[in-house]
Amino acid sequence: MKVVILGAGVIGVTSAYYLAKAGHEVTVLERQPGPALETSFANAGEVSPGYSSPWAAPGIPQKALKWLFMKHAPLILQPRADLATWRWMLAMLANCTAARYAVNKGRMVRIAEYSRDCLIALRAETGIAYDERMQGTLEVFRTQRQLDNIGKDIEVLKKDGVPFEVLDRAGCVAAEPGLAGSAQKIVGGLRLPGDETGDCFLFTQALSKLAEGLGVTFRYGVDIRRITHSAGRVLAVETATGEVRGDAYVAALGSYAPALLAPLGLRLPIYPVKGYSITVPIVDEARAPVSTVMDEAHKVAITRLGDRIRVGGMAEIAGFNFDLPPARRATLEHSVEDLFGGAGDQSRATFWTGLRPMTPDGTPIIGATRYPNLFLNGGHGTLGWTMSCGSGRLLADLVSGAKPDIDSAEFALSRYA
Ligand SMILES: Cc1cc2nc3c(=O)[nH]c(=O)nc-3n(C[C@H](O)[C@H](O)[C@H](O)COP(=O)(O)OP(=O)(O)OC[C@H]3O[C@@H](n4cnc5c(N)ncnc54)[C@H](O)[C@@H]3O)c2cc1C
Repeated sequence: MKVVILGAGVIGVTSAYYLAKAGHEVTVLERQPGPALETSFANAGEVSPGYSSPWAAPGIPQKALKWLFMKHAPLILQPRADLATWRWMLAMLANCTAARYAVNKGRMVRIAEYSRDCLIALRAETGIAYDERMQGTLEVFRTQRQLDNIGKDIEVLKKDGVPFEVLDRAGCVAAEPGLAGSAQKIVGGLRLPGDETGDCFLFTQALSKLAEGLGVTFRYGVDIRRITHSAGRVLAVETATGEVRGDAYVAALGSYAPALLAPLGLRLPIYPVKGYSITVPIVDEARAPVSTVMDEAHKVAITRLGDRIRVGGMAEIAGFNFDLPPARRATLEHSVEDLFGGAGDQSRATFWTGLRPMTPDGTPIIGATRYPNLFLNGGHGTLGWTMSCGSGRLLADLVSGAKPDIDSAEFALSRYA
C-alpha cells in the first residue's frame, strides 16, 4: 500500500519506519529542511514510562492558582480570548479527578512501556545511537508532603508491574552522585530503574536514515496546505509544490494537526502547550547528572545527554507563541544550578522553545478516523519521545490491518466523541 505521512517529527518518523518494515511504500512530507526540527528538536530527553502521568491530576487546579504567584513557576497562563483555548482548559480540568487520573495514567503507562520495549528491540536490531543511557530516572522531592503524595502513582506502577524504588536522601545521592552538594535540599525520591534517556533529535535523524534504507521517501521543505476529500475518503494532500496521493494517509503533525484536519470535520482536542529547554555543556563530570533527575518542585527535568545537560520543562498556555523570555531561561538555569551547581557552563548554553501537542487527558490519539484511509498519530504532549516507538508500531499495525500487541481502543479518537 502507498502511505503518505504528514510530518517528520519523532512520531512521523517512527510511523514511517514501522510502516516500511511492514512492507508499505511510504512517503513523508515535512515543511522543515530535515526531520525533528520542531517540537522533537530539544526536549528534555527522558524516555520515561514510569514517570508517564497526565498533567490533569487531582489538586492541580489549586496548585495552578499557587503557581501563578511563584517566581520559578512550572505553569504560566497567558490565555487568549479564543474558544479553542478555553474549551481545552475546561476539558483538562474535567480530567483532574482521581478516577480520571487513574484511567489516564494507566493508558499513558501502557503505551509508554510498550514503546520502551519497542525501542529496546529497535536498538538491538539496528544499533541506532543517540546519546542514549539506560540508567533509570529519579524524581526528587523537596518536602515530606511531596514524598507522602506519591501513593497513587505507586499504586498504578504496581498494578502495571513497573519497577520502582522509593529512596531516602542518601539513596538519591547514591543513584545520582552529582546531588551530593545539594543533598540537604531534598528529602527523598522515586527512582524508576527501567526508564532511559537519550537525544530525541539525534534519534529521529538516525531513524530517518534507517527508514530511507528501507525505501521511505522523505520530501523536505514541503508545506502542506490542505487535505482534500470526496465521498468520505481522503483524495490527496495539497502542498505548495503540488498534489500528493496515496492509498492511506497518516497525520503526524504535532500541534498543527487540529488546524489541518478541521476542514474535514475532525475536531482534535490538541493544544500547543509551550515548554522551554536549555542545553548546557558539561565542565565538571563529577557534579553532573548521570541520567534524568526530575525536580518535582519546579517540574523541570535535568538530563545527561553525552557531554551536555539538557534542562527542560514549564507549561505555558499561550497559543502558537515562540518568544524566548529571559525569565523562563532563568528558571531553567536556577533548577540546574540549584541541584547540580557548577556542573555546566551556563555562558555557552543554548535556549529553545517547543509546543507540546497536548490532549486534555494526556493520552495520545492513535488510529483510525471516520475517513477509512486517514489515520492519526498525535497528541503525545509531554512524553512524545517516550511513546514514539510504540506509537509508530501500533499505528503501523492498525494501518496494515494486523492485530496490535496492545489494546488500541484506549487511544482512539472516539474517546472524545
Ligand atoms: C520543553 C519540552 C520538553 C519535553 N520533554 C520530553 C521528554 O523528556 N520526554 C518525552 O518523551 N517527551 C518530551 N517532550 C514532548 C515531545 O518532545 C513531543 O511530544 C514530541 O516531540 C511530539 O512529536 P511530534 O512528532 O508529534 O511533533 P513535532 O515534532 O512537532 O512534529 C510535527 C511535524 O509536522 C510538521 N508540520 C506541521 N505542520 C505542517 C505543514 N503544514 N506542512 C508540513 N509539515 C508540517 C512540523 O514541521 C513537524 O516537524 C517535551 C516537549 C517540550 C516542549
